[in-house]
Amino acid sequence: MTEILAVGEAMGPALALLGGGDVVAIPTETVYGLAGDATNGIGVARIFEAKGRPRFNPLIAHVADMAMAERIAIFDPLSRKLALAFWPGPLTLVLPQRPGNGIHPLVTAGLDTIALRMPRGFGGDLIAKLGRPLAAPSANSSGRISATTAQAVAADLGARIKLVVDGGATPVGLESTIVKAEGKGLRLLRPGGIAAGEIEALIGMPLSRGGTAGVEAPGMLASHYAPGAAVRLNADTVGKDEALLGFGRRRAEGWQHAAAFLNLSEAGDPREAASNLFAYMQELDRSGTRTIAVEPIPQGGLGEAINDRLSRAAAPRDNLLPPT
Ligand code: AMP
Ligand code: MG
Repeated sequence: MTEILAVGEAMGPALALLGGGDVVAIPTETVYGLAGDATNGIGVARIFEAKGRPRFNPLIAHVADMAMAERIAIFDPLSRKLALAFWPGPLTLVLPQRPGNGIHPLVTAGLDTIALRMPRGFGGDLIAKLGRPLAAPSANSSGRISATTAQAVAADLGARIKLVVDGGATPVGLESTIVKAEGKGLRLLRPGGIAAGEIEALIGMPLSRGGTAGVEAPGMLASHYAPGAAVRLNADTVGKDEALLGFGRRRAEGWQHAAAFLNLSEAGDPREAASNLFAYMQELDRSGTRTIAVEPIPQGGLGEAINDRLSRAAAPRDNLLPPT
């Protein structure tokens, strides 16, 4: 069961949970967020698990200050101008990641860009005290509307999380506006708590709209991270020229002779497997193999999201090309 603590008494317990790789629901100015340490793969996997999300879409990483933001991402002048004008506040910027920033790949679903925001109030204080960024989607189970009170969070997620920090009703009550630098301008990826007109007034030009950059559209993750190698699912045998991505203790036949082998979770723990998924796929891909064979992964819990990601990687590449 969950505990609801007022902001005045929640800092210590929230820091302890986050430090231990667990999740905490926190108030922000937009809606309540379900936060985990963005540098800890188990913490990030727990976010997806608690929400029951059927797929790994990229999350927004929350920062305490500009210095933390600049350590994580590479700012262009326009994005920096927006950050200085609207942060802390309900604006999210999608930026190229700075290599070696420590952000766990599950936060960005393996992308080389990252969505960043600086929240106002308790969230900002918590991140500053933790000294690390927090990944936080809205604190509601997948498919439900965002929660704007601690009671709504507890009613929905109470059985799955240990702490809800109560900061009262969230002032904005809408998700953040998301923009991404594109060429010399900016694209509006999601309307939200800051009106597009306010941004346009500041930068002196219109925002582009309408999705062309496939990744941003919900359900378009297929184009996110397609490994160079072909992917073969539910493998119970593996060839010498194939790399093997394992799960659990039971090995595919011929595994000793696979070109490369990594185990998502020896213990068969879907949470651990989720936290290793993107890094291991990338590592096996870099080994230069032509095919990655993947052992069966049960559908339960995070298994559904893991299998969703793997089946997108296994989909015929022709499907990603325009029709001829
Ligand atoms: P939520 O955390 O539920 O408010 O949703 C985060 C939104 O940010 C989703 O619509 C994502 O698709 C979007 N997003 C997060 N990271 C990226 C990224 N690197 N590139 C484009 N969109 C992103
Ligand atoms: Mg949401």
